[in-house]
Amino acid sequence: MKYIFVTGGVVSSLGKGLAAASIGTLLENCGLDVTMQKFDPYLNIDPGTMSPYQHGEVYVLNDGAETDLDLGHYERFIHCQLSRLNNLTSGKVFEQVLGKERRGDYLGKTVQYIPHVTDEIKQRLYDLTEANKECDVIITEIGGTVGDIEGYLFLEALRQFAFEVGRNNCCFIHVTLLPYIAAAGETKTKPTQQSVAKLREIGIQPDIIVCRTERDNLADEEKQKIGMFCNVAPRNVVAFRDVKHSIYECPLDLGRDGIDRIVTQVLGITVPKPKMDAWQKFVGRVIHPAHSVKIAVVGKYISLQDAYKSIYESFTHAGAANDCRVEIVRVDAEVITAANAAEQLAGIDGLLVPGGFGDRGIEGKIAAVQYVRENNIPFMGICLGMQVAVIEFARNVLGLTDANSTEFNTKSADPVICLQEEQKKIDTMGATMRLGAYPATIKPGTLCSKLYNEKTSILERHRHRYEFNADYREACEKAGLVISATNDQHGLVEVVELPGLNFYIACQYHPEFQSRPNDAHPLFSGLVAAALEGKQNN
Ligand code: GLN
Repeated sequence: MKYIFVTGGVVSSLGKGLAAASIGTLLENCGLDVTMQKFDPYLNIDPGTMSPYQHGEVYVLNDGAETDLDLGHYERFIHCQLSRLNNLTSGKVFEQVLGKERRGDYLGKTVQYIPHVTDEIKQRLYDLTEANKECDVIITEIGGTVGDIEGYLFLEALRQFAFEVGRNNCCFIHVTLLPYIAAAGETKTKPTQQSVAKLREIGIQPDIIVCRTERDNLADEEKQKIGMFCNVAPRNVVAFRDVKHSIYECPLDLGRDGIDRIVTQVLGITVPKPKMDAWQKFVGRVIHPAHSVKIAVVGKYISLQDAYKSIYESFTHAGAANDCRVEIVRVDAEVITAANAAEQLAGIDGLLVPGGFGDRGIEGKIAAVQYVRENNIPFMGICLGMQVAVIEFARNVLGLTDANSTEFNTKSADPVICLQEEQKKIDTMGATMRLGAYPATIKPGTLCSKLYNEKTSILERHRHRYEFNADYREACEKAGLVISATNDQHGLVEVVELPGLNFYIACQYHPEFQSRPNDAHPLFSGLVAAALEGKQNN
């Protein structure tokens, strides 16, 4: 196994995750089997409890792990199946160490940061190696910035790990910033030098420096200078430019500078040049589509770019599949009312209501769904978006004016969305979330069946507590709501649709976690196609 470690310096938000994922894409297209891992130095045990305002979206894996959104990039950029082994936080590390201490596993020793905490971190690398024997390369990204107190133990663990597995099996890549000082008309290398010095203090000499820069290229003198002061070959100093249109250009950009050649040389492996044709074509379709549609996303975290990351990416994939630019209109659910919905949503070709927790903005979402249902505008609901659609249908079609989810109103006369009986019993333990991939059976002849290419069984990822209340199934079906996919083992509703309309579908799961470039999720593709058709017919 070969190991690549990606650290960051100078400032956060340099696109370290994208750089790591892009290197993964390039290596995969050289014919290597790659998997990726993220180490997050914060103390939360996982990001599951963190607000999207703090940390962007929580990305869910097949095995139910709630992870950092960078793992979403990894799954979109390479064809790997990640598991809970692929994300490790300091919180998790300490939980394990303290658990062992309480069980007496340390046999009376004094438990210390080094070696016990660092051993635990290294163990995760060994475990991932064991679980991915068929892989050639593991890329590990270390969250945060070199010099942060909380990242220190991870870096120390990596130093030890490289010593153990052999330095020639490891490639350390440091991503830094080259700020441009307009007044001096100069790009400054000092912050990069200082952050590399910090790494070398810990005993890590980077092999490659990836410099985030606004400029088009690094001058040879700059590479020489950075190389000399950071102790790396000037050839191993690579520019990482701001991409113009899409994050999917990143692998092409880094490939232009031959980073795959440099990495494989450091690791001592010989592979053919990456075959990026399919990726290049995908990027071409993202950048120069023939058509465009406007799709509103009505949610609570609209102002925050990262809160619905996977949804926005899914629209990019679905747009490319339909040769169409998807212009996202972000609408704050809290400003929509039944009275102003037409005005707030004027000019849209489609609506998506994403997942969410808590009652803020719920009435706005209900009003938005009512508006598109009554005006036959293509609609897709995800998770909370499906629950809201069911509430709207119950209130306005079945006439159950007090219909609600017990998440928002425990005294609702018609709790059309509620907890399952068995969940109520374990509620006090807090372990009630349905997380990860579950199978669903699709009813033939439905829109859902058509979108999934007549498949009868699918596997989709979940992250929610509440469910469609089975007591209302019959009434809803009689009134025209079609339940087009179910989880038969637990008798749960997975997808609902309204056949009388052009496109109205809502699912209890999160399709956005399984959409990929060149393999757009069928529900997103369907929504974009319907929006485009509707626009062209108008
Ligand atoms: N809050 C809802 C639930 O827990 C929906 C969750 C979601 O949209 N992810 O069921």
